[in-house]
Amino acid sequence: MAIRRHRQDLPGRDPRAVRHPAPKGRYRLTDHRHVVVVGGGIAGLAAATVLAERGVRVTLLEAGERLGGRVAAWPLGDGRTMSRGFHAFFRQYYNLRGLLKRTDPDLDRLIPVDDYPLQRPDGLRDSFTNLPKTPPWSILGFVLQSPTFPVRALADVDLKAATELIRVSFPRTFSDYDDESAAQFLDRLRFPAAARDLALEVFARSFFADPSNFSAAELVAMFHTYFLGSAEGLLFDVPDDDYDTALWQPLGNLLRELGADVRTGARAEKVAVRDDGATVTLADGSTLEADAVVVATDPAPARGLVAGLEAEGGEAWRDSVAATVNAPPFVVVRLWYDGKVDADRPAFVATSGYGPLDNVSVLERFEAGAARWSDEEGGSVVELHAYACDESALADPQPVVDALERELHRIFPETESLGVRHREVLVRDDCTLITPGRWTDRPGVETPWPRLALAGDWVRCDYPVALMERATTTGYLAANALLRQWGVAGQDIWTVPMRGLIPS
Ligand SMILES: Cc1cc2nc3c(=O)[nH]c(=O)nc-3n(C[C@H](O)[C@H](O)[C@H](O)COP(=O)(O)OP(=O)(O)OC[C@H]3O[C@@H](n4cnc5c(N)ncnc54)[C@H](O)[C@@H]3O)c2cc1C
Repeated sequence: MAIRRHRQDLPGRDPRAVRHPAPKGRYRLTDHRHVVVVGGGIAGLAAATVLAERGVRVTLLEAGERLGGRVAAWPLGDGRTMSRGFHAFFRQYYNLRGLLKRTDPDLDRLIPVDDYPLQRPDGLRDSFTNLPKTPPWSILGFVLQSPTFPVRALADVDLKAATELIRVSFPRTFSDYDDESAAQFLDRLRFPAAARDLALEVFARSFFADPSNFSAAELVAMFHTYFLGSAEGLLFDVPDDDYDTALWQPLGNLLRELGADVRTGARAEKVAVRDDGATVTLADGSTLEADAVVVATDPAPARGLVAGLEAEGGEAWRDSVAATVNAPPFVVVRLWYDGKVDADRPAFVATSGYGPLDNVSVLERFEAGAARWSDEEGGSVVELHAYACDESALADPQPVVDALERELHRIFPETESLGVRHREVLVRDDCTLITPGRWTDRPGVETPWPRLALAGDWVRCDYPVALMERATTTGYLAANALLRQWGVAGQDIWTVPMRGLIPS
């Protein structure tokens, strides 16, 4: 029998959103359990929050000085802040939004970005502002309005391949594309060139990937999650201040109120797992005894911890972790200009065809700290991203930085005559790459040892979720897997519909 849902029970506006009930059990733990969560990014914070709420004693170890991981922010000492880069908080991120609601029940600290144009040098500009939100009207609206998708080009599209995009069913769809790359899939689709670029440049590159080495399943799942299968629309929100102030300090405080021991500057070096518990050794040589461990680090340190894991057996699983790979480096440049960009510049522009430049954001449009600096100094704070860069950027990012600033001058010509008062450059290669290959070979949340769970955006999750939302969801699932063993109820998961518009 269909369950009628009241609007107030839904996590967003989509009545087709799906609730995946948590394992049932007691509301709270009645005996004493201690879990060490390694990694204070979104996945670790999600796992730690659910565990601490259920009465588990949590020790959260974060190697860096601040919480948030790839979404961390830190002060520069003179009122300015730097972060790991602009992040879009989509309305489909039901689980992440649920986590943030713990300290901000009405999500007042997230503010909508009204539009984000997708700009190309040939002048074509897509926009998502006035699109209907509900499929199929959203798709029709996009095709009719999009200059990159002229209606006559539909004649060339391989309709059979195109219907695959709306014939999805998760988790099966993840395996349907085993071994196919995003580039091969789009070749099969025969989209018009500009629309193909849009899908590749904007969707695949947001995963820091070269499309020929990026899984088609991830691309199809992304189309479904963000556009074809959800009525939340393609618009997103951003925090109203730097991530640390707006998001992670409040969540860290909540964890402490729940009794968690939140340690920053604390690196886990070794994990040993037994049938009845685990030991974590820290970089300072101290050890922590626990009933269980959640490894919620980014992919490279997770591979290191698993390579050195003291536990019986699990050879195939160890190999599956070792086989995961990182995406190429990305570069983030933040510029504090001595004058302002034009008043009509949007908060965020995604770009295609501007050399290494993938997007531009104007921070004073949404971040309180940047707005203060802009008011006081009469300048603009502009951030530039380049994903999937050449490996050489790690040793010498200057050529990419120069190219990014040159491309910015083409997009916002007024910046050419502005002076740069401060420049922060960040180069990292700590994102995961979901390559073509067998989906089921990827390591999931549960491991061969009941007292060890994985969480993070690199961990397999059978739901249509990605990036920050996959990090949150796997964090919740890791907590649920441990709580289930102790007879305690876990955290419900919400997702966009598990099936596309056409039943399959
Ligand atoms: C520039 C950029 C832009 C992005 N934009 C978006 C976006 O718009 N939308 C979106 O959804 N996603 C975006 N992402 C991806 C998003 O940041 C990640 O998916 C998400 O933050 C991953 O969270 P996580 O918890 O899995 O990992 P992380 O955030 O990497 O957290 C792992 C943590 O573990 C810590 N750690 C590592 N080793 C150890 C150890 N041995 N002991 C203790 N701690 C350790 C690390 O310091 C880190 O804090 C973007 C990423 C980047 C880099």
